[in-house]
Amino acid sequence: MDIILFNPPRYRNGGHHKFNNALLWLASYLTQRKVKVRVVPLNNEQFEATIQREIATHRPKFAAVSCKWWDTLYSSSYIASLIKKQDPHIVTISGGHTASFFARELVEKTDFDVVVRGDGEEPLYQLVSGGRSINCVFKGDQQALPVRRGYVQKQETLKDICLAENLEDILTDISVLNSYIWTGKGCLERCVYCSGNVWNSKLHFGRAQIIYRPFETVHRDIEILSKFPDGKRITFDFDPQRGPVQTTYYLELFRGLEPKKYNCYFFSWSLPSKELVDALANTFHFVELCLDVQTGSERLRRQLGDRGLMKPFFSDRAIENLLYHINQYENFAVDMSTLMGLPFERDEDVKAIVAFSDYFYDRYPFLRYPYISPMNVEPGSLLMKNPTQYGMVLFRKSFEDFLQFTQRNFERNINCHQPESYEEGLFHPLGAAPIEDYHRGDVFRVYETWKKIQTHIDRRSNERILMRTQKYQEYGLMKVGIKGGIDRGSPRYIEVE
Ligand code: SF4
Repeated sequence: MDIILFNPPRYRNGGHHKFNNALLWLASYLTQRKVKVRVVPLNNEQFEATIQREIATHRPKFAAVSCKWWDTLYSSSYIASLIKKQDPHIVTISGGHTASFFARELVEKTDFDVVVRGDGEEPLYQLVSGGRSINCVFKGDQQALPVRRGYVQKQETLKDICLAENLEDILTDISVLNSYIWTGKGCLERCVYCSGNVWNSKLHFGRAQIIYRPFETVHRDIEILSKFPDGKRITFDFDPQRGPVQTTYYLELFRGLEPKKYNCYFFSWSLPSKELVDALANTFHFVELCLDVQTGSERLRRQLGDRGLMKPFFSDRAIENLLYHINQYENFAVDMSTLMGLPFERDEDVKAIVAFSDYFYDRYPFLRYPYISPMNVEPGSLLMKNPTQYGMVLFRKSFEDFLQFTQRNFERNINCHQPESYEEGLFHPLGAAPIEDYHRGDVFRVYETWKKIQTHIDRRSNERILMRTQKYQEYGLMKVGIKGGIDRGSPRYIEVE
């Protein structure tokens, strides 16, 4: 075996495992070039035994551990240490958004030998096949070269990245597969809380543009994934507001799909056009559409949007018009994702957030109660880069801070984003607080307020669970458990993923 790609656990008990589908495309790229590769999800509490068995049986020369999401920072480096303990000769590699951001620290302070920054396919292939080093940071490197001088995927080269036909021969546990299919890369926005912003994309992925995958490649990948359990529900999560294509890309993409063959979860990064809503309704058997409203407070949405700290502003009236349009379709469920604790949020905004959510939930039966998540500090975000500019104070700033925070949560099986128990300093639940709260010594105010609101959300969400269940049954959508995607409020085990 040349290389094993491990997907790290989130918790010591293996719970809440989330598979990074990007590993499928990476592994496919390698196998299509004759590299012997396996993908191993570490999705249960026996993950240490799994690593031992995999290494003893397959004796790989390289082992890579995905570190896309920051909440797997500790677990991915812990997996690297287990690999090294068993066989110090194996070259340990990491990659992904968080690894790219902390590349230098990961090779200097953990058991990773190499971090591949940015787009991983060709650099990883070159690394494992003895070719030239591209976008890699090695232990002992004095300075990391800018990614843009190495390898950056372009629109023209995206046709080379497609799934292998025989995923079941590469992936050791197909039950982890989720239906996410990528349609493009890049972002030109500067949402203050998000590591996908244009500054970070340019610095660590060498990309300050938006690129889309060819239709035929996406169609083929959808066919391949649809052979697996849950593959009939396609998840799209790439819908940038700027760039040359936007809605027209999806209209064209949907034209190539057999009508009503698939279900769909579509993350709209803003408000979709009515034309796109019509196309979703007509193309898919059942549509779940998530609108990223960002905040339920129209005042704050306008302020942050106009200042370029979030996506361009749209009004409550525009949301209402869209929901009114969707109302004509039976085969629709709508989610809204919103945040709390954004910069410059006032008490009046918090009241407006709840009023906004109740208003739309009461008015539109196909709407699931809006998510309200507390804003966290994320490595690679503009908030982390310059908190004072946004009126915030950070409690987690460095690699070590994030490593310690994620270690504690991994060992104690605690959710990094909404921890049930927390402490002061770097173990602050959100890692950030408004400056005024900090000066008043009230640094948990946002989180404690959010917890009360979450109780309200759970209660209201449960009011209509029977009605939603009937609809899911009607469309054959019922399933047990949650995998990938986003979690619904309780009782989560009878809710659609
Ligand atoms: S949240 Fe904003 S910055 Fe992040 S990917 Fe979406 S549009 Fe881009």
